[in-house]
Amino acid sequence: AAKGAGGNGIAVFTEEMRAFYALRDDIELNLRHAVESDALLLHYQPEVDLRTGEILAVEALVRWQHPTRGLLLPGTFIEVAEATNLAGELGRWVIRAACKQFAEWKSHGLAGDLVMRINVSPVQLVSLDFVASVATVLMEFGLAGSSICLEITEHVVVQDMVRTRITLEGLRKIGVAVAIDDFGTGYSSLSHLKALTVSALKVDQGFVRRLGHDDNDGAIVKSIVGLADSFGLDLVAEGVETEIAARTLLELGCYRAQGFLLSRPVPPEAIAKLLSAGGKIALPFLDRRSERV
Ligand code: C2E
Ligand code: MG
Ligand code: MG
Ligand code: MG
Repeated sequence: AAKGAGGNGIAVFTEEMRAFYALRDDIELNLRHAVESDALLLHYQPEVDLRTGEILAVEALVRWQHPTRGLLLPGTFIEVAEATNLAGELGRWVIRAACKQFAEWKSHGLAGDLVMRINVSPVQLVSLDFVASVATVLMEFGLAGSSICLEITEHVVVQDMVRTRITLEGLRKIGVAVAIDDFGTGYSSLSHLKALTVSALKVDQGFVRRLGHDDNDGAIVKSIVGLADSFGLDLVAEGVETEIAARTLLELGCYRAQGFLLSRPVPPEAIAKLLSAGGKIALPFLDRRSERV
């Protein structure tokens, strides 16, 4: 297609590049300020037990209320933060904000056994004072380590294996669990799973989206279920968008699910409302199955 577009293709590309760099400059200039002011916020996406509808965890997902560009998703600014050494600061803000929110839900009796999942960037993970900074925040809000679970992406794990191991060991000592995010897309070697003290895997959305339609994806998820079972890890499927995907996950024995079908990421008030109403999400499309049981 690029070939056929000829000169036009190049012009379009340049325009896109210009827009990309403009956004990048803007983000670099404003993100630090955004971290310091109140311009960042967290939305939360429930993780649901497909057997019961119970909300087991919520994942904190950062957003930026940009003065002129509207509500920005992390896809537009996380990479820039990482390339411009703002990732540490952004990451600290996220962990503190998520813990603060969790403590607030807890103080209203809403947290129960809920786990707050927090994404962590590679920059944070290899920082020497990371474990201490997490411990400090937990203490500030009077939370147990088990209240939170940190999510790291798979490709990060291998980048600096030695440091990652030390950090995960430290987190384990303060009771903080770690999940491998986007599992199945990186260099998932079984020896890494063996060497690292992680407690959960999140199956990458790419294997979940077409479940029920794509037999290969079904086979992959099935084998990850087996893997998680043998390592004694919790398994979460991300990107559950269709009823057939949810039903297939149930059949495959993957009970923890997250996705637009169940709930989009929502502001904290919406989570509080769900938790006050019993902490369940209705799964009417799975009812037929329970009738048969
Ligand atoms: P992730 O950790 O894998 O989070 C899941 C992403 O998938 C979220 O996008 C979520 O809105 C989206 N999602 C959930 N269910 C569905 C679904 O059914 N269909 C589709 N198409 N998408 C779904 P979001 O919020 O845009 O975040 C994107 C990524 O940005 C995250 O992927 C994570 O890697 C990163 N991120 C988000 N918040 C933070 C943060 O606070 N710190 C760091 N370091 N990274 C973050
Ligand atoms: Mg995540
Ligand atoms: Mg993911
Ligand atoms: Mg991701």
